[in-house]
Amino acid sequence: VEKRELLYEGKTKQVFATDNQNFRIFAFKDEATAFNGLKKGKISGKGVINNKISSILMRVLEREGVPTHFVKEISDREQIVKAVSIMPIEVLVRNVAAGTLSKRLGLPEGAKLSSTVYEYCYKNNDLGDPLINTSHVVALGLATEEELKLMLKIAGKINDVLSACLKKINVDLIDFKLEFGKTIDGTIIVADEITPDTCRFWDSVTRSKLDIDRFRKDLGGVEEAYNEIFNRLQSL
Ligand code: 5GP
Repeated sequence: VEKRELLYEGKTKQVFATDNQNFRIFAFKDEATAFNGLKKGKISGKGVINNKISSILMRVLEREGVPTHFVKEISDREQIVKAVSIMPIEVLVRNVAAGTLSKRLGLPEGAKLSSTVYEYCYKNNDLGDPLINTSHVVALGLATEEELKLMLKIAGKINDVLSACLKKINVDLIDFKLEFGKTIDGTIIVADEITPDTCRFWDSVTRSKLDIDRFRKDLGGVEEAYNEIFNRLQSL
């Protein structure tokens, strides 16, 4: 597979075409954003680490039968992925209250949820990715009810697989965001990335944050946290 023109430049990644219409190349950047792009910065080495972390976690999912877009790591910052059209819905999965759930419902950060919470957001930067429900998804034609059911089922499986895998390295999976894409033949698969940019990871013992919240909240030790997750994953 040969790299061709830049198709899309996002906040944290570039997406390139290749000489094969079934594949694209992701290049992970060091740029970090928070609060819908209002806060911008750089986390030195993040692109390299996130490329590796997402590759490891997508491989874990594939091994457990979860269909993902991941194909192969090809350099420090780059990986080959299957070409998909991204569905305009983010699926959020939460095991413990944090972030916007805590804020919206007045739950203390770290409060255990008695069952898993699933949320959808409409992927729209101008609107700040607003929270929507099943009837919005269907009424706006963002996905069919069947597609949404499938996405939820996959999200639940991912939660089980990743929570168990991370438990072994003393990391609690607090919550995470998923994106899904449709391949050329219409199959729905997991797309985008699974990294400390898209998940909340807390140390199981100290409850210290090992993710993008260190950047969002100016807690310091941001690079160290990303490295810590990568080092622990390597020990698996
Ligand atoms: P919250 O809604 O609490 O801000 O986010 C819930 C989880 O989804 C967190 O792990 C957060 O990092 C992730 N998440 C939510 N929205 C986005 C987004 O637009 N971009 C990224 N990279 N992660 C998100």
